[in-house]
Amino acid sequence: MSAEKIGANEIKAKNRQIIYNYIREHGSASKQDIVVDMQLSLPTITSNLELLKKQGLIDTSGKIKNTGGRNATAFTYVKDARTAIGVDITANHITAVAVNLSGDIVRMERQRINFDLEDDAYLRKIGEVVECVKREADISDENLLGVGISVQSLISDDGEYITYGTALNFAKRKREEIAAYIPYRNRLVHDSYAAGYRETWTNKEFQNAFYISLSNSVGGSVIIDDAIYEGNTHKGGEIGHMAVVTEGGELCYCGKRGCFDTVCRAGRLAGYTDGNVEEFFRVLEEGDETAGRLWEEYLEYLTAAIHNVRMLFDGRVILGGYVGAHVGKYLEDICRRVDERNPFGDRAEDYLVECRYKVEASAAGAALFYIDEFLNNI
Ligand SMILES: [Zn+2]
Repeated sequence: MSAEKIGANEIKAKNRQIIYNYIREHGSASKQDIVVDMQLSLPTITSNLELLKKQGLIDTSGKIKNTGGRNATAFTYVKDARTAIGVDITANHITAVAVNLSGDIVRMERQRINFDLEDDAYLRKIGEVVECVKREADISDENLLGVGISVQSLISDDGEYITYGTALNFAKRKREEIAAYIPYRNRLVHDSYAAGYRETWTNKEFQNAFYISLSNSVGGSVIIDDAIYEGNTHKGGEIGHMAVVTEGGELCYCGKRGCFDTVCRAGRLAGYTDGNVEEFFRVLEEGDETAGRLWEEYLEYLTAAIHNVRMLFDGRVILGGYVGAHVGKYLEDICRRVDERNPFGDRAEDYLVECRYKVEASAAGAALFYIDEFLNNI
């Protein structure tokens, strides 16, 4: 193919994307709206609208009322035209969600089951949960963009294998083993990246953010200009292994001592209430003395970390994971403690937030990988 030909195709694709994004943003538009706002020629707009309609991405059954003349055809965005599935694998659950082109979760399935990649029945269960969401969300094979698999591990660039995974026993696993019973396009996604991305994807205010995942292990993700910053070796945001206890720190699962994970994983709190985070916050609220002491210790490290992250990135800070999902009532107190550390007078209430998505953030974020891929290549 000649360079000239490639150039022409690129322009065509770009125009198609511009027109599609315009309709997606406005929900519905007439041809005239697009002509005026986009400054593209009528034949270009007409041919692209036809193509988008053929792909099922826009609907033309509605009308837009025109002042004066006859009603014009409304070209309407179809948010459920394509769907991606995300599945999150944790120590005790498999959670799968179906996500449409607007990032809405249209279906969710969550099953309690103990993590065990050695067990073929467990691998089958992953496939079943995906299949269940696909069926219940009524997604055809053609309209399914792919399945993002969120795992508590660091992932190779191509999403094909795990480069580091000791929080759960994921070490040295390949995508094809984990996805043995998922008969659709799929890839692995680092769970903290997925969860952080989910929080920022739909919120334009969160252009620059740091997501701290406070679950059974502690992870994080850096979002700069709406994109995950992975660093040079895909370990960017690994806040769980910042060295924070300089003397006599506990042994971390990574083999080192004094990591942030050892003082701020959810188990620091939930260990007191049989592993149940919700129960911990219930007894804390009742005024339980031990819970109060544990929470004080926890906040000392957490607020230092929030402050340090703010000093480094100057963006939003999102508290996520099992603990982040419960901090709502304590957010004001956390903000006050963080402010005490801040030399610039920034107010934490202006940048610190609890996560909006609770148990499904990582699954939904993993699905967004395929939504983005589709939107970028329309
Ligand atoms: Zn560590």
